[in-house]
Amino acid sequence: MKRTLLNYLACPVCAGDIKLNLVSAEDGLEVLAGELQCHSCPKIFPIVRGVPRFADLANLEEDKQATADSFGWSWQEFSHDDAKYDQQFLDWIAPVTSDFFAGKVVLEGGCGKGRHTRRIAGWGAKETVAVDLSDAVDVAFTATRGLPNAHVIQADIFRLPLRRAFDYAFSVGVLHHLPNPREGFKSLVSKVKSGGHMSAWIYGAENNGWIVSLVNPVRRGTSSMNRRTLFHLSKFPAAVMYLATKLIYAPLNRGDSGKKLARHLFYNDYLNYISRFNWREQHSIVFDHLVAPTAFYISREEFEAWWHDVGAEEVTITWHNQNSWRGFGRIP
Ligand SMILES: [Zn+2]
Repeated sequence: MKRTLLNYLACPVCAGDIKLNLVSAEDGLEVLAGELQCHSCPKIFPIVRGVPRFADLANLEEDKQATADSFGWSWQEFSHDDAKYDQQFLDWIAPVTSDFFAGKVVLEGGCGKGRHTRRIAGWGAKETVAVDLSDAVDVAFTATRGLPNAHVIQADIFRLPLRRAFDYAFSVGVLHHLPNPREGFKSLVSKVKSGGHMSAWIYGAENNGWIVSLVNPVRRGTSSMNRRTLFHLSKFPAAVMYLATKLIYAPLNRGDSGKKLARHLFYNDYLNYISRFNWREQHSIVFDHLVAPTAFYISREEFEAWWHDVGAEEVTITWHNQNSWRGFGRIP
């Protein structure tokens, strides 16, 4: 934890100021171990392995804990990175571009292993605060250690230990795994300053009826399976998807005549899009689908209502790969 993070923290219980009470280990910019304390109430939050821990994991609702555990394992297992994910990230938050981040104070709801956090810090954000409930925060900390403008905290999106101090908040691929996606969205928006912006990318209900009827029942079994076993088992459906994207979807979508044919293929936009990814990445996509205990598929109509709820202005909602929604808007 860098001391500059203190400017953005607030007690998740009483919204009081947070002070650094005790430093028991540090390395350069980073406080590696110590204690944060609320000014206004007796709450104390430990800093463990460089990450402030605000989530009361012992008293967390079971479904949140299960999701955090699943993704924590997944993100630690699949901690690869690659420059082509720059574009993937920007596709999820379009119309935002990399130069949008310069000088901004950014909040990331659900950072996993910190892949985006590192990019945003490199794109010139003034500060970027990445939040995750899972143990993947340890990976995210390692990925961003020593970057003066990148911060990682372990916290619940529904009880953010933050001030309303952000120019931009975003969440990609996380809200639909929360027990109440709409409340998670509102919670993030509540930390954005007046005139700031918000982005969210979520699974769509449209075109995903087959996942709801086919994958959801499977997921009920696989999400409670031993992670290592599921990791290996998920290689079978991943291999089918991998071969289909590399041998059928990618080649057909390359030529004009093939494209006409490809339009009739099952889930073409999405499978063509992911055909660019290597085996590891495709395997991680399949694994993530099978390991998640909760996933909601949200219709455009419902997603629009989220933005309406928070009074967002100049909202743009666009269809991504014909299976998910991305939204961007200004917070009044
Ligand atoms: Zn307090």
